[in-house]
Amino acid sequence: MSLEDENHKWVYTYGAGKAEGDRTMRNLLGGKGLGLHDMCSIGVPVPPGFTITTEVCTYYYDHNKQYPKRLQGDIQAGMKHIETIVGKKFGDEADPLLVSVRSGARVSMPGMMDTILNLGLNDKTVVGLHTKTGNERFAYDSYRRFIQMFGDIVMGVPHADFEKVLQGVKDKAGVKQDPELTTEHLKEVITGYKKLITEKKGHEFPQDVQEQLQQAIHAVFGSWNNPRAITYRNINDIPHTWGTAVNIVAMVFGNMGDTSATGVAFTRNPATGEKVFFGEYLVNAQGEDVVAGIRTPQQISNAGKEAQHSDLPSMEESMPQMYKELNEVREKLEKHNRDMQDIEFTIQEGKLYLLQCRNGKRTAKAAVKIAVDLYNEGIIDKDQALCLVDPNAINQLLHRQIDPKAKKTILSRGLNASPGAACGTIVFTAEDAENKAKDGPVILLREETSPDDINGMHVAKGVITARGGMTSHAAVVARGMGAPCITGCGEMVINFEKKTVSFGKTDLKEGDWISMSGDSGEIYLGKVDTIEPQISGDFETIMKWADETRRLHIEANAETPKDAQQARDFGAQGIGLVRTEHMFFDPKRIVSIRKMILADTDEEKKNALAELLPYQTSDFEELFKIMDGFPVTIRLLDPPLHEFLPKTDKDIKELAQEINVTEELIRKRIVTLHELNPMLGNRGCRLCISRPEITEMQGKAIFTAAMNAAKKGVKVYPQIMIPLAVSKKEIQILKDILDKEKAALEKANNVEIPYVFGTMIELPRACLRSAELAEIAHFFSFGTNDLTQTTLGISRDDFSFRDCYKDNGIFDSDPFAVIDEEGVGELIKMSVSRGKSVQKELRTGICGEHGGEPKSIQFADAIGMDYVSCSPFRIPIARLAAAQAAVQNKKK
Ligand code: PEP
Ligand code: MG
Repeated sequence: MSLEDENHKWVYTYGAGKAEGDRTMRNLLGGKGLGLHDMCSIGVPVPPGFTITTEVCTYYYDHNKQYPKRLQGDIQAGMKHIETIVGKKFGDEADPLLVSVRSGARVSMPGMMDTILNLGLNDKTVVGLHTKTGNERFAYDSYRRFIQMFGDIVMGVPHADFEKVLQGVKDKAGVKQDPELTTEHLKEVITGYKKLITEKKGHEFPQDVQEQLQQAIHAVFGSWNNPRAITYRNINDIPHTWGTAVNIVAMVFGNMGDTSATGVAFTRNPATGEKVFFGEYLVNAQGEDVVAGIRTPQQISNAGKEAQHSDLPSMEESMPQMYKELNEVREKLEKHNRDMQDIEFTIQEGKLYLLQCRNGKRTAKAAVKIAVDLYNEGIIDKDQALCLVDPNAINQLLHRQIDPKAKKTILSRGLNASPGAACGTIVFTAEDAENKAKDGPVILLREETSPDDINGMHVAKGVITARGGMTSHAAVVARGMGAPCITGCGEMVINFEKKTVSFGKTDLKEGDWISMSGDSGEIYLGKVDTIEPQISGDFETIMKWADETRRLHIEANAETPKDAQQARDFGAQGIGLVRTEHMFFDPKRIVSIRKMILADTDEEKKNALAELLPYQTSDFEELFKIMDGFPVTIRLLDPPLHEFLPKTDKDIKELAQEINVTEELIRKRIVTLHELNPMLGNRGCRLCISRPEITEMQGKAIFTAAMNAAKKGVKVYPQIMIPLAVSKKEIQILKDILDKEKAALEKANNVEIPYVFGTMIELPRACLRSAELAEIAHFFSFGTNDLTQTTLGISRDDFSFRDCYKDNGIFDSDPFAVIDEEGVGELIKMSVSRGKSVQKELRTGICGEHGGEPKSIQFADAIGMDYVSCSPFRIPIARLAAAQAAVQNKKK
């Protein structure tokens, strides 16, 4: 149905056990809307409301900031729907309906967009609220909170200005905390707030409730494009084109006295995954109080109380009936959603309401435990368990930990909000973090974090906050980023002006080193040793299930013995790419490859190659040994010359001495070899053809190494591939050289040295000519880095307009990180099909950076490729992503 169709639905209502939306509508309703509709339809108590779809947001931005024509009418109908269920009228001076206006995109973007509570209050309805509830203080407190939120979010008066007014009244009254203010004080605050708005904006705070509603909806749609939301989307690869939904929900109040409360909870511990009802609540409070960290929240369950060493009574102890109801909802929601849930609830005078429910963010450790436990509890099957773990997040499990044997001085302790270990120098602001992170690792220390700190948090190795709990902004965001985080370290006192901090008796300053463990919540003085993580327990179980499920082979991009061993330990089934030129990155060896590149006379060439041959032979032999029983795919030399030519005077001098020529001569040769577009220059097979002696040397090294290793009982499977080829002729020339070397060795040693010959596919012409390439190549290894570069015509090294392209919605994600399915992907599909039309058994895979990226792995599986190859630390990620791809693609 077209957007202009008069029956097009812009608004979906829910309430009283019936919902117009259902769980297939995430894209339209957003995560929060979906949760509300879904909870309502399974009988979980939710306050009624309606969702204005994400399509309205995208329509608004696509139509020069105009809303669809019929939207107003639909919103009014939605309000009527709420009024009927609640039995109150919006704007009624005697008994007003109040609503909240909440943002909610397809995926959660915690704290990035706006929410407005208590909407519908004005000078008259506040009196009605007072008379109806008999609670004057509550009514005026709600009103002052509303003016502050509305004034800040909708009208753009800075939050700090409101705080000044509030502080002024508190000082005058001689009180420290908000709850100590009387109703009269609150009325004074309200007068001050209204005056502030008129002064700052030149017009008054709107008393018309319809105007409040329109403006609030408009502000929430507008918040989709506030700078912090844009930054968050860029960091998390969330397309700017998705838009947010807006939910209008009848207000329920957790601040109506001691039988009211509000809280947030996870159905299991989000840090460890333990099956413990884990959350915090506050009696007589509104949602913002829990998050703001002003009062110390109480734990929901006794188990949570114990785990958090809390002295305050748990809800299980102090509100047992409410706890029982909440616990039932917890079980119902977990079973229904087949996953750990993150919920927000309010108890209004002894009646429970759920305000939000979504799959909870969790650490990788928790994700793995929850997946295995839910399977063991019979709630999900193995395929579902595999899909519950985010492959990118398991990076955390591969992260370093504090060495248990290391000597350490504990400075302080906080909550273990996000795991991993980090050492760094202290910084106190997000801005300083960004500046100083360029010079070395930093740890960001804050009272608490806010979305404005997002860039600083991103570059910091770890984050520590003085306030906040496991559900605070710092905790949620750091967990999502996979960075270690400690929250609620009350002992940490920061002096922002002097840039100093004290932990009890120890005083430190900006630039001093500290270390931290997000697993234990401990902070240490100075640099503490860290160790590699161990793969065991539930993680091993998930990996075993992944290996049983996946179809794709996972190989490694590795050239050093250390990397190859690491890859094998992480489960690699061979090496899919040995970049032979990288074997010379070591400063002691780089001279040899430079000598070879710059060699001019036959004599120089011979000498340089003679130097390289033994290195290469022994390196290859080592790789064959490590990968005993698995293929090792060696790529002929592909040195983009600019990366390997000597650059500094020191390099030139060293090389001149080594090859016994003058520095002038070296400089001249550098000029001769200089290329304007080195990435499109004499590299890859072009270099191997124009300098056949290099190919001869490499062939000799590979076959000798294979022969030597085989003699020692190693099962060797050498594969050789040609970089940057575009035609059969190129690869034929090189194959002939290799075969000649092989035949000579076989003859001299009276052995057989089998090998598999293949080519890389890195250029559009190679895709087009895949049929002829498959006449002699037995495998195609897609070099998606170069293929992306040459298909898009964008340099892989200087993609400076990346953010601009993302901001403008031209790319949803960086095409050098996630395969551009529409462009590069189409070429790959064509190449595979043309290749297979000639050779049915042709083996295909990806060895560019995309080979370790989950979405690209999904693509590789979907088009029937055989393998992906990636760097060692991405092997476990790729194993899991390949299993998820198999599950998803099986469903299709
Ligand atoms: C590629 O281009 O994708 C590739 C694997 O080769 P390199 O990155 O070494 O150019
Ligand atoms: Mg390449």
